[in-house]
Amino acid sequence: METTLRGVGVSHGVAIGEVRHMGTAVLEPPAKQIPADEAEREQGRARQAVEAVAADLVARGNLAGGEAQHVLEAQAMMAQDPELIADVDRRIAVGSTAERGVYDAFAAYRALLANAGEYLAGRVADLDDVRNRIVARLLGVPMPGVPDSDEPYVLIARDLAPADTALLDPTLVLGFVTEEGGPTSHSAILARALGVPAVVALPGAGEIAEGTVVAVDGSTGEIFVEPSQEKRAEMESASAARRAALSAVTGPGATSDGHKVPLLANVGGPGDVPAALEAGAEGVGLFRTEFLFLDDSKQAPSEEKQVEAYRAVLEAFPEGRVVVRVLDAGADKPLEFLTPADEPNPALGVRGLRSLLDHPDVLRTQLTALSRAAEGLPVYLEVMAPMVADRADAKAFADACREAGLQAKFGAMVEIPSAALRARSILQEVEFLSLGTNDLAQYTFAADRQVGAVSRLQDPWQPALLDLVALSAEAARAEGKSCGVCGEAASDPLLACVLTGLGVTSLSMGAASIPYVRATLAKHTLAQCGRAASAARAADSADEARLAAQAVLSGE
Ligand code: PEP
Ligand code: MG
Repeated sequence: METTLRGVGVSHGVAIGEVRHMGTAVLEPPAKQIPADEAEREQGRARQAVEAVAADLVARGNLAGGEAQHVLEAQAMMAQDPELIADVDRRIAVGSTAERGVYDAFAAYRALLANAGEYLAGRVADLDDVRNRIVARLLGVPMPGVPDSDEPYVLIARDLAPADTALLDPTLVLGFVTEEGGPTSHSAILARALGVPAVVALPGAGEIAEGTVVAVDGSTGEIFVEPSQEKRAEMESASAARRAALSAVTGPGATSDGHKVPLLANVGGPGDVPAALEAGAEGVGLFRTEFLFLDDSKQAPSEEKQVEAYRAVLEAFPEGRVVVRVLDAGADKPLEFLTPADEPNPALGVRGLRSLLDHPDVLRTQLTALSRAAEGLPVYLEVMAPMVADRADAKAFADACREAGLQAKFGAMVEIPSAALRARSILQEVEFLSLGTNDLAQYTFAADRQVGAVSRLQDPWQPALLDLVALSAEAARAEGKSCGVCGEAASDPLLACVLTGLGVTSLSMGAASIPYVRATLAKHTLAQCGRAASAARAADSADEARLAAQAVLSGE
């Protein structure tokens, strides 16, 4: 009998197919003792397994490219962490088998991370994945991860590690559903980059039996278990109609009455450029440069390496706009050479611009590399700082850009409520604002973006978040400057109309979302978007805001 479940839709599209579960079994090796003369051999086995798993992660990364590559390489480095390996050796020396030594050493490290604060939830999933891979290899059992199947399927997992998400073959994996994760989690961002329909934060999805047919709507977050023939036909025809409507709308982003809203792409490096061009992105609204830094957490990439990566992206958009965000390290993206190791709450610690101001040499090299990369290109380069809290931050960043001789517009991301509240003051120092709604929601609602249990508060339709967007956009308009959105909020077509109505001047998102946003925007006038925005702000909850905007835009 058909039943309906509802999670959070994070990547558009419809997927209908049989369920396959991710191999998630935690492999707990028996705690047997080995004789002392076997310790050396076991240590060698452990090291070999670590090396093989790290090499496999790097190879998967090479295959995947783009943002995924950097995430996988960071996981490979996690596997090779010298302190972890030393701990494994110590445990084997006192009688553990290789697999048990690895298992226990990772458990100790995991506890350390977990005690360091909630923000590490995402990293813990990555760490567990690395541990499972090493232990599986030592035990000689199949690797956990994406199931082997020649037939297309809908993947269900508790949570997806970046290593798995990156390897999802869009021709086999029709869509995926996870029990954990929020709309701004890494998995959700990667799903959009891949263009695979996805629903997250659906507790109970794990109980759907293997082989059951489900229909997943990545836009509404609904899952129909054992859908009736009528339901399937209805969803398939709605999906086909949507695809046809999407391909019929082309060109620059605009409302139906011609109000232009440039549609830009979020990229993590040159690997993401082809998809952005294919989707007709008018430029890049967020180049997450930290992915270039995750290769080696002990030092920054050389100026030459940075110039090369920046130039490859800048060259792809002649006469277009490319907004580069300087390194956003810390919290969920710690870098050994920048991030303090002992912060009690790293999401509220020295991260983003704060860590760059503590390491002016790293910022200077990055700005110089950007300046060199843009030399002689007709591109409109804009450079922005993450995690700007106040005018002093904005001034320090603008001063650093000027000192580096950068020929570009300088901007500030609005990710902290204080920046939205005092946007006009920040605009005295910089030329544009870009709303990072993922972190802005996290800090407004005190809700960790990696934690599925608080995804309700990460919903970008929350009226309080819309109020902060409105404040920022109004401040920019009053100063005659621009204010874009580059957080995941921009990828929701209906919300994109609301953001436009709030006065946002550009929208930047994962490439796969661009056609959806373009088509929806083209159906409504600017005045309708304005009315939808007012209705959403007048609501008391995210769900009410969504319904209120929907009612206005559908002419009810
Ligand atoms: C944001 O916080 O909305 C943002 C765009 O930055 P990131 O997701 O990389 O933190
Ligand atoms: Mg952010």
